[in-house]
Amino acid sequence: MQFNPRYPSLNRKLYHHQMPVPLKGAKAGHFNEALANQLQWSEQDKAQWVEICSGQKTFTEFEPLAMVYAGHQFGQWAGQLGDGRGLLIAQILDQNNQTIDLHLKGAGSTPYSRMGDGRAVLRSVIREYLAGHALNALGIASSNAVGFTSSTQGIQREKMEPGAMMLRTSDCHIRLGHFEWINQYQSELLTEFTQKCIEWHYPECLDAEQPVLAFATKVIQRTAVMIAKWQLVGFAHGVMNTDNLNITGSTLDFGPYGFMERFRPNWINNHSDYQGRYTYQQQPSIGHWNLWQWLNNLVPLCPTDYDKEHWKQDLVACLEHYEPTFLEHYKHGLNQKMGLPSFHKDSFDCGMAFLRILQSEQLDYTQSFIRLQNKQFELIKDDCLDRRQFESFLAQYESIRANQETDELDAEMLKANPQYILRNHMAQKAIELAEQDDFSEVNRLFELLSQPYTKQTDLEQAEDLAPLPSDVPEVMVSCSS
Ligand code: AMP
Ligand code: MG
Repeated sequence: MQFNPRYPSLNRKLYHHQMPVPLKGAKAGHFNEALANQLQWSEQDKAQWVEICSGQKTFTEFEPLAMVYAGHQFGQWAGQLGDGRGLLIAQILDQNNQTIDLHLKGAGSTPYSRMGDGRAVLRSVIREYLAGHALNALGIASSNAVGFTSSTQGIQREKMEPGAMMLRTSDCHIRLGHFEWINQYQSELLTEFTQKCIEWHYPECLDAEQPVLAFATKVIQRTAVMIAKWQLVGFAHGVMNTDNLNITGSTLDFGPYGFMERFRPNWINNHSDYQGRYTYQQQPSIGHWNLWQWLNNLVPLCPTDYDKEHWKQDLVACLEHYEPTFLEHYKHGLNQKMGLPSFHKDSFDCGMAFLRILQSEQLDYTQSFIRLQNKQFELIKDDCLDRRQFESFLAQYESIRANQETDELDAEMLKANPQYILRNHMAQKAIELAEQDDFSEVNRLFELLSQPYTKQTDLEQAEDLAPLPSDVPEVMVSCSS
């Protein structure tokens, strides 16, 4: 590994040095060797992956630390939060010379643990591990993980569960909530902290006339693109609090997430989200709300030679990039999934008509697009109660595609429509076996989700392709993790 310990160069008030506390009886769960190779792990590092991913081995080049941040949770100011059960154990350079954080989740309590035990259970570790891998393979910016370990130590949640740790990777663990903490508790650190964020993550903004405004615009645009991509694959993050969104627009801290199965825009995967704040269809507007909160924290950065009101207006203008960026990516992506030309004035409407059918007929989001891609129109129609609605959609669809370069459009569809997503019941089966020390299903899902756009008949199972029958109760996903 090549170390680049830059976070510890920040003011000491922003973190607390803390060593991991290993769990009893650590054992191998899964190791992502391809990712370790991208991160330039040596053969010796790889041989020690279990020790590294269970907190038994740390590095002399980096003193582990817990970050402090704050946040708005479910729309309410939550005050100080921070890494309550995860530690930054290294910052290293990947093969492209990009700095990547190694964050060990479940590593024990810290000064920011509040009432928590500092631990993570195997169930939630496997869910995050597989989803991070799936999102990356789908082409969506996200945290990932080098590996996870289970243990013989029981952790109390609703019931006793095996404790686990995961070595998460991300290009950035600086959250919108970092700015909220600084403004609330140590506002004198804001200028220098923002400067570092720009240097580290958006160096191209340093040359702008107003680097802070250029930075804000980039953060807003990247977040909009990330959320557009979530919507297109049907990903519901589950806890879009300001402490769970970072400044590089890569998906982070998605505990009670879910991938949409039957198309229900108002679907809540997180059963602790009683008000339905974080439903699938709300994600774009919640992203906007979070960024609005965040921008308030940049108000004090008004340059001395700048009119304060003018500065506020300029910050508001940055946020005006959000919706067009989101719509551009979402519309383009939906047209791609549909196999429709983006330049045609009716393409997007036709895509929306297809989504309305999926919604009213409660069809599976992923499989319906695959059927469309395979031109299995009859199969879709057979599942519809209102066949006339489907026929009128199909007439419009075929008329738009007539006289187009359909080979090119079909090739785009292949790149945009995954064959496989991580359904809750798939993760659940892998978890139940792993809790008996059988990681074979984790291994199989890891392989399958490595190439989500490729049909893998040798690896797939029938349950991977469809929602559970409607009379089988859904897997309840709670916030407890
Ligand atoms: P999350 O919603 O999982 O992102 O967590 C919100 C906050 O609670 C973060 O500050 C976490 O570090 C903290 N937290 C969650 N679970 C625990 C736990 N078991 N022990 C300590 N802190 C926790
Ligand atoms: Mg969090």
